Amino acid sequence: MTAPATERAPLSAECTLARAPGYSELHRDCRQTQDIPLPHSTGILLQRRCGCSCHAYNTRPGT
Ligand SMILES: [Zn+2]
Ligand SMILES: [Zn+2]
Repeated sequence: MTAPATERAPLSAECTLARAPGYSELHRDCRQTQDIPLPHSTGILLQRRCGCSCHAYNTRPGT
């Protein structure tokens, strides 16, 4: 079983806006490509990496 696409991580502000017509170049401005851990904690993320399919880590073949 593969997880449905709807379970993707949320998009960054840039990639959210980039889905609008005429704003597609904003995908290149997205810097949110890594999970950012909360300092002085373990297992808690301050910010998840962007779930947009424009990032290579979201387009792995075979999954
Ligand atoms: Zn994007
Ligand atoms: Zn992004």
